Amino acid sequence: MYQDLDAYWMPFTANRQFKKSPRLLARAEGMHFWTPDGRQVLDGIAGLWCVNAGHARPKIVEAIRQQAGELDYAPPFQMGHPKAFELAERLVKLTPPGLDKVFYTNSGSESVETALKMAIAYHRVRGEGQRTRLIGRERGYHGVNFGGISVGGIVANRKMFGTLLAGVDHIRHTHDLQRNAFSRGQPEYGAEFADDLERVIALHDASTIAAVIVEPVAGSTGVLVPPKGYLQRLREICDKHGILLIFDEVITGFGRLGAPFAASHFGVTPDLMTVAKGITNGCVPMGAVFVKQEIHDAFMNGPEHLIEFFHGYTYSAHPLACAAALGTLDTYEEEQLLTRGQGELAEYFADAVHSLKGLPHVIDVRNIGLVGGIELEPLPGEPGKRAFSVFLDCWERGVLIRVTGDIIALSPPLIIEKSHIDQIVGTLADALKRAA
Ligand code: PMP
Repeated sequence: MYQDLDAYWMPFTANRQFKKSPRLLARAEGMHFWTPDGRQVLDGIAGLWCVNAGHARPKIVEAIRQQAGELDYAPPFQMGHPKAFELAERLVKLTPPGLDKVFYTNSGSESVETALKMAIAYHRVRGEGQRTRLIGRERGYHGVNFGGISVGGIVANRKMFGTLLAGVDHIRHTHDLQRNAFSRGQPEYGAEFADDLERVIALHDASTIAAVIVEPVAGSTGVLVPPKGYLQRLREICDKHGILLIFDEVITGFGRLGAPFAASHFGVTPDLMTVAKGITNGCVPMGAVFVKQEIHDAFMNGPEHLIEFFHGYTYSAHPLACAAALGTLDTYEEEQLLTRGQGELAEYFADAVHSLKGLPHVIDVRNIGLVGGIELEPLPGEPGKRAFSVFLDCWERGVLIRVTGDIIALSPPLIIEKSHIDQIVGTLADALKRAA
């Protein structure tokens, strides 16, 4: 047993504060965590938007156990193993038509780096090597590696790390509280935010731009749901100018919106799609990039004896991750979890989160599928403090939520029942009243 908390430098954590009053999780099953002293905590955020089928699901646990004893590791370069191919075949059956190839990574951040490199290289293999510029969005979150923070738009994640990638521009985010506060599902107003892309294209000339990357529903920045028609318009503009559209579906993939992917839900197909998290139900690190057939084929047109894409990771297609992903897909399919976030349950969830309107300091509530966002008015001069106190209060009372700045995010496992929704939202409502 550890003696103190000193040696571990924790990620994205106020370490000094945390270590004075640590919050530890020792066990998990279904909708719940347990602390080392046996306290039960209801998981309102699916771990970190990833445990979509709930915790410790038997098929997944067994698949990992078996795989560890059978083939613990296989080199992924110039070698393969059967489950990597089986998984790819099953995954591309879930994607929108056209996204028929899959490239494995180990995390969302790696999926983003891979997709950005693939986009630039794709233009190059087609003889358009001048298309290198990348476009992201303000408030976008695309992981923490240099490409991802360059196209990302969260200032805190960027400002300590120097000049970042050259040749990156940002278009506006779509958050418009004045016109769209308390929207249920997709906001009415703001499709024209997509026209920002035309402005950036006019500035640089389309022939210099490789790709645009967006989260179809922005998660980490505080649940920003795309206005009606916005993603369609982005697609049209990209098509008009030969620019690739990348959807970062690390959060929205695998059933979060009540469809396998946000692309399927919104009826807009990107050229590349990044995923992670729910691909293995969060059990073993894994990510992937889904790729349009014609992008893949452009790489295959070179000389037969050459490697087509000089990129990959030691742990690409790791056998334990592939086994976990296969067990995860079995669980999603058997329990029809990928469509659970639509229909009656999603309506119940929407009603519940919107019931928080009118509580002290709540300036917006928004939702889609099984995602909810509750935005609080910040304490003057102390951004984030009010929401963090709500987070701590909920934790003390046995409910895990997530906060970014003064926005509370809910994104429960897709196995959630109405009684759990009542408990999460009831606890949150009480905490909001106490915070006042
Ligand atoms: N992209 C998006 C949209 C994400 O939400 C995240 C993580 N929350 C990432 C990328 C990065 O994923 P990871 O932490 O697995 O690197």
